[in-house]
Amino acid sequence: MTNNIRKLGRRKKIALIAHDNKKKDLIEWAIHNKIALSKHALVATGTTGKLVEEALDQPVVKLLSGPLGGDQQIGAMIATGDIDVVFFFFDPMEAQPHDSDVKALLRLAVAWNLPMACDRTTADFLMTSRFMQDEYEYELPNYTQYLSRPI
Ligand code: PGA
Repeated sequence: MTNNIRKLGRRKKIALIAHDNKKKDLIEWAIHNKIALSKHALVATGTTGKLVEEALDQPVVKLLSGPLGGDQQIGAMIATGDIDVVFFFFDPMEAQPHDSDVKALLRLAVAWNLPMACDRTTADFLMTSRFMQDEYEYELPNYTQYLSRPI
């Protein structure tokens, strides 16, 4: 049995990020899920957070705006175990000035085996998963070999 287990409580720490062309989508989705989201702690990139907070009348921890470092802040929180679930509505049709940051965030979510939805349909599936309401345990990827690699 490994001790590399991560336990998520019933109240999840949720990160919300939406690119400008996807903000309307995310806000509509958030309003539709207002009751479910009220049971969790929300953190978001600056502009997304402001819009979600206004739409839900629920406090949101607002980081820097995405292109100004917010995506990197969320990436760092993923790596330190301070985010449980990510809803990242990114725009697949428009180049972003902070493309490298977007890629880094997506990569870290996968590197740490986090549940992440990047479009509205997947967000519906994820939000209605029973694991959103229940406790959940999962095995973290084992990076021991990587960390002890010969240099
Ligand atoms: P914003 O950032 O919520 O501050 O607009 C989103 C992003 O583009 O990463």
